[in-house]
Amino acid sequence: MKVLVLGAGQLARMMSLSATHLDIQVSAYDVATQQVINPVTFEAHSASLEQAIADVDAITAEFEHIPADVLSVCQKTGKFYPGAEAILTGGDRAKEKALLEKAEVACAPYALITEKAHFLASIEELGKPLVVKTCQAGYDGKGQWRVKHDNEVEAIWQEMSEFLAAGTDTAPHAIIAEQMIPFDREVSIIGVRDHNGQCRIYPLTENQHTNGVLTLSVAGKEKSAIQSQAETAFAAIANELNYVGVLAIEFFDVNGTLLVNEIAPRVHNSGHWTQQGCHVSQFENHIRAVTGLPTGDTSLLRPTAMINVLGQDGIPAEVLSVTGVTSHWYGKTAKPGRKMGHINVSANSLHQLGERLAELAEILPEVDYPGIAQTSHALILN
Ligand code: ATP
Ligand code: MG
Repeated sequence: MKVLVLGAGQLARMMSLSATHLDIQVSAYDVATQQVINPVTFEAHSASLEQAIADVDAITAEFEHIPADVLSVCQKTGKFYPGAEAILTGGDRAKEKALLEKAEVACAPYALITEKAHFLASIEELGKPLVVKTCQAGYDGKGQWRVKHDNEVEAIWQEMSEFLAAGTDTAPHAIIAEQMIPFDREVSIIGVRDHNGQCRIYPLTENQHTNGVLTLSVAGKEKSAIQSQAETAFAAIANELNYVGVLAIEFFDVNGTLLVNEIAPRVHNSGHWTQQGCHVSQFENHIRAVTGLPTGDTSLLRPTAMINVLGQDGIPAEVLSVTGVTSHWYGKTAKPGRKMGHINVSANSLHQLGERLAELAEILPEVDYPGIAQTSHALILN
């Protein structure tokens, strides 16, 4: 079988690697260069996008910001999963909030902004501090403002109004203001829904962000009550979208109650640990679901952590000397802050995972790989 992925980054690459042993070939459409490529070797295919769309058994996506005309051509084939509506919902925070309301899943109190009066009213109604986010085109903490003091309002509005003015009649821009949630921690759930509506859900993952970007995830810590809250939200959202494939949901944990932060209609960075922590990874399960194959076991094999490699030229080979470690390199050109690869580390217990993270903290400098030492201490004490 053949699968075409819209988007040609590391997520398409890891889908391709996990599909090879199923005898499924994955090609990827690079939206920037408008070329169909092999996402592992980066070689260009001779086929055009139209030919690739006609040639494959299934089409999917690895990110949300895909041109509307491409989405609509793919949708018409009847073999695009999770489909245009899910991708458009994940790429627009206003659509996402409307979905959460329909699915009756709790999120942070918010207001929609398309003019200055709405912004001023949102400050009154929701109170400061506020997190203000562009509805379109945001990722990795970009397209966000924090409103803490009255004297910041004018300058922030200037930047917001530029974003709003850049919208067009066919692609209007909007902004959302959310109450700043005083969360205890951030967690996410990754699951897969197949063609028959059957869901399989991975264990909840605890995530640390640094400057708005994911730096570290740990899986295998969760208690059943919080896991079942996340699973209920997953099923409600996935069913509402009649979803097929892997879906990720990010939450704020506020004193044991989960509020949705955002959804991602695709495989997700906070699910990379499943490559070593589970029998079937998120990448393989996504490929299985979109091609109509049976999905695989999502239960935890062993506690596993994932460390993001951001902006580095390579992964220090020394990490491979730590037991339980695998490294994953994406083959991209380094830029400051860019996601270049990740390191997974597995262990037989949370305590042992803490010890192995402590060994990694000796090798990986805190400034480039924040939070490893602190997480290792917490796990060892656990
Ligand atoms: P990514 O693509 O990496 O998931 P993003 O650009 O889509 O990020 P969000 O996930 O919405 O943006 O926000 C990035 C981070 O900012 C969150 O992980 C969280 O740490 C913080 N944040 C966002 N919204 C709120 C909020 N309402 N209250 C408190 N913190 C928030
Ligand atoms: Mg996020």
